[in-house]
Amino acid sequence: MDGGDRKRSDAGVRRVPVLLPYPFPGPFDYRVPPGCDPHPGDVALVPLNRREEMGVVWDAPADDAVPDHKLKPLIGLVEAPPMREDLRRLVDWMAAYTLAPPGEVMAIALRVPRAAPGPATGWRLADPLPDMRLTDARRRVVEALTAGHGDQQRDQQGDQQGDQHGDQQRDQQRDQRGDQHRDKRSAMVRSTADLTQAAGVGAGVIRGMADAGLLVPATLPSAAPFAMPDPDYPSTNTLSAGQEQAAATLRHAVAARSFSVTLLDGVTGSGKTEVYLEAVSECLRQQRQALVLLPEIALSSQWLERFQRRFGVAPAVWHSDLTSKVRRTTWRAVADGAAPVVVGARSALFLPFPDLGLVVVDEEHETAFKQEEGVVYHARDMAVVRARFCHAPAVLVSATPSLETVANVEAGRYHHVMLPNRHGGAVLPHVAAIDLRETPPARGHFLAPPLIEAVRDTLVRGEQAMLFLNRRGYAPLTLCRHCGHRMQCPNCTAWLVEHRTRKELQCHHCGHTVPIPSECPACGAANSLTAVGPGVERITEEAASLFPEARRLVMASDTMPGPYAAAEASRAIAAREVDLIIGTQIVAKGWHFPHLTLVGVVDADLGLAGGDLRAAERTVQLLHQVAGRAGRAEAPGRVLLQTFSPEHPVMQALVAGDLNGFMASEAAQRRPGHWPPYGRLAALIVSADSGLLADALARDLGWAAPSGDGVEVLGPAPAPLAILRGRHRRRLLLKTRRDVAVQPILRDWLAKVTVPRGSRVDVDVDPVSFL
Ligand code: ADP
Ligand code: ZN
Repeated sequence: MDGGDRKRSDAGVRRVPVLLPYPFPGPFDYRVPPGCDPHPGDVALVPLNRREEMGVVWDAPADDAVPDHKLKPLIGLVEAPPMREDLRRLVDWMAAYTLAPPGEVMAIALRVPRAAPGPATGWRLADPLPDMRLTDARRRVVEALTAGHGDQQRDQQGDQQGDQHGDQQRDQQRDQRGDQHRDKRSAMVRSTADLTQAAGVGAGVIRGMADAGLLVPATLPSAAPFAMPDPDYPSTNTLSAGQEQAAATLRHAVAARSFSVTLLDGVTGSGKTEVYLEAVSECLRQQRQALVLLPEIALSSQWLERFQRRFGVAPAVWHSDLTSKVRRTTWRAVADGAAPVVVGARSALFLPFPDLGLVVVDEEHETAFKQEEGVVYHARDMAVVRARFCHAPAVLVSATPSLETVANVEAGRYHHVMLPNRHGGAVLPHVAAIDLRETPPARGHFLAPPLIEAVRDTLVRGEQAMLFLNRRGYAPLTLCRHCGHRMQCPNCTAWLVEHRTRKELQCHHCGHTVPIPSECPACGAANSLTAVGPGVERITEEAASLFPEARRLVMASDTMPGPYAAAEASRAIAAREVDLIIGTQIVAKGWHFPHLTLVGVVDADLGLAGGDLRAAERTVQLLHQVAGRAGRAEAPGRVLLQTFSPEHPVMQALVAGDLNGFMASEAAQRRPGHWPPYGRLAALIVSADSGLLADALARDLGWAAPSGDGVEVLGPAPAPLAILRGRHRRRLLLKTRRDVAVQPILRDWLAKVTVPRGSRVDVDVDPVSFL
């Protein structure tokens, strides 16, 4: 029995719940008008505050609070693929877990059909068909739009593409949709030109039938914009025995067509991508769809090339910068099962896959998977949830898995597949620390003599070197030599970062920008402002004077803004048009540069400052990833870490190459205090127009704080970013044992406090950032 039927009141009024893309606590009921037959998942138009809004028919239980006679009528159903059950379950689950309003979560999935229902380029039969006598011509049009003819049309489409797989796949998927009737109705859409030809009638007949209510405008099914990747495409790569064993385990998980999670854990350059593409290929053989999530899709040019080499065609790509036309086609193709593989950013999780058979999360440890604005969620964790609702395996991939994932492996919840060696006899790079206390850089400079020497040697050998510093711009701080004034952002608790090439100072939190002043704004002294500390621009300047002959390339998100710039940079490096690469964290991402043999980390201590729970873990992961760029082919690699504390466990672990040991000691430190992953955390972030208001609300929350066995509240305390975009911020942290569910505690807690106008409380379950 579906939600709709359950909700027929005594008076015979049928009501359906419709979830709207707004922060309401749940769906609203609407009256179903005669002749309309909504099912859960259908996209519907409904009245809301005298406007028409698009929502999704939901399956929530009846809300009898509103009496029948007060119900507003549903306006109609929208010609769009229904939101499928597994996606609705994901929305409900995420809303319950993150405490986000369900409508806001649903809005992520509805964004495309809502923004662009697609032009009504074709016709379908009205349903029900008005009861009237038909002329011969009209009858032929009706026949051309009924089942048998439609199948014929689909077959023709399949032939045109010349791919049997795709056709079988789509047919099978249609069968699996179960609801044959509704599916046929939406499949029978043909263009005017097509109909006039098939029925042997003029366009006037079609228009007349539309006027008579026999035909309804509808969107044509997309003509598969994505070619079918060929799982048996001739490949030049032969998997090593170890790789083959790992690939077999993953293939087996895919063939099982059931939920499982596997960590694919292999050193950098071990062929993890090669191996999980085998799982993708098994998924294609199973005629199901595969989703691969990458942390930064703008940096995926090498990945896309490899995919093409493995399967002969490109996959569908999904991220927020697609043009609306590409977005619409891709979204449609996914819904029609015509996009067999999608590679995408976080939001690809909400695509309408009819038959998802595999979810891969590459670089699963990456914090970029955490969505920090709007609905706050961790895409890695939600990928696992989506896989569960789709009865599909999830594969988490990393050379430096997060402690969360490692703990899940240890608890037996996740399987573990390992690739312990680099592919093709390449060895892991040799890592050493440079003690900056013993061999400091020259005054006002940032590269220490041993690093300079190593770069020089590398360049002389005709190999490539990389300098890594995770800081954009020229200098993180500008101060007046005369009065000590520091250039600060007027909207945030943050220094302005100098971008010398752009002649600007910029806040990296809110984007506020000012031209570099010629005199100090506080004391008026001329030419007194001085740059303190390095960013990549400053390192580039230093490198230019040290190695004037070297062809340099800067890789930072502001110098390489889009996928094309990144693709061009990676091409130039591979083609040896570059000798020295200077970059921020984007150089750490999965790149394979065979001629790169030296990586110098300018400030290895950078990520360790601040009291962040995961600072050490993240620093090890980032530096190990950067280090992993060196020596990936025949020539061995070398990594030098500039640090003021070579004795720090992070440096020791990197030098010894003992990540497992490091993770074990991290675990040992977090376990007793019930810190994640051995306990749960949720942050409340209070923000208000003034410090007083923020304090008042934070204090109220503090008084209402929950307590109990295994429950602890830390704070309120000013957030490290005490002012952000002009808003004053305070933080509270709920910490519980792992066996305690934080959501009910949070709900009760928030219900006890009134949030005044202009103030707000944001909830962050499983926080990654503590700013
Ligand atoms: P990881 O993702 O573990 O860092 P990759 O999958 O990027 O490793 O592999 C590193 C390099 O080795 C890539 O250039 C890849 O094409 C190559 N490679 C890996 N396995 C094989 C193989 N079996 N045959 C040929 N080349 C391989
Ligand atoms: Zn700012």
